[in-house]
Amino acid sequence: MKFTVLSLFPEILQGFFESSIMAKAVERGAIEYELVNIRDFAFDRHKTCDDAPYGGGAGMVMKAEPLSLALESVKAAGKRTVYMSPSGRKFDQALAAELSAEKEIIILCGRYEGVDQRIIDTYIDTELSIGDYVLSSGETAALVVIDAVYRLIDGVISSESLEEESFARGLLEYPHYTRPEVFQGIKVPDILLSGHHANIEKWRLRKSLEKTIKYRPDLLEKRVMTEEENNVLNDILRRETGEDLNGFNQSN
Ligand code: SAH
Repeated sequence: MKFTVLSLFPEILQGFFESSIMAKAVERGAIEYELVNIRDFAFDRHKTCDDAPYGGGAGMVMKAEPLSLALESVKAAGKRTVYMSPSGRKFDQALAAELSAEKEIIILCGRYEGVDQRIIDTYIDTELSIGDYVLSSGETAALVVIDAVYRLIDGVISSESLEEESFARGLLEYPHYTRPEVFQGIKVPDILLSGHHANIEKWRLRKSLEKTIKYRPDLLEKRVMTEEENNVLNDILRRETGEDLNGFNQSN
């Protein structure tokens, strides 16, 4: 899979592609990337890429001409083309999976107040937000998307670790521990040292559910629970509130 990123500051992204797991994936040929500096397509003397907004107001807007030349240079038409924007569709694990099936994604990073709307209308098929907050740059947002997508590509990381992790099963992940067994007087939970795999699985399910109740109860409302999960959930809630659980879906 190829990531093509258009940016005024491509050096922000370069380090990510040259480090750690991504660097290895690039070396093996599992991932390709191309970083395009939008400023290379500004042809006036000052290489201007932004201008004041029509209609007035604060800030600057990224100009259409350099953006369109940059997009044409990577043959954006007909490819999956994404613009990072706080007013876009909310990025999530399901969309990461969808994007990981593409051969190439072109990602446009905004700056200032964003890009001229005509660029979005002409070239962009998905405006993508990484969350309900405003960043100063599309580069950091693009890195979030690239990181979530590339690790789903075959052979980048083990499929076992993908199956276990947060969201993969509609729950947040259980806690992890590694050596030493005692750290600042705090011991690793005995069950993880017991070698009893069935009990470890049960403990992990309980911890996953506890964490999901605490931070993301909305995930539980959407999820169809197994009987075992519902029993554990009921038990957790009974202990916490003294009340029985109502309203969560259960599969048969
Ligand atoms: N005026 C815009 C904000 C521009 S922020 C507005 O109010 O909607 C500058 C750039 O940062 C944007 O063009 C976009 O590329 C990026 N950006 C900021 N917040 C983002 C978010 N939550 N998700 C994705 N991109 C974001």
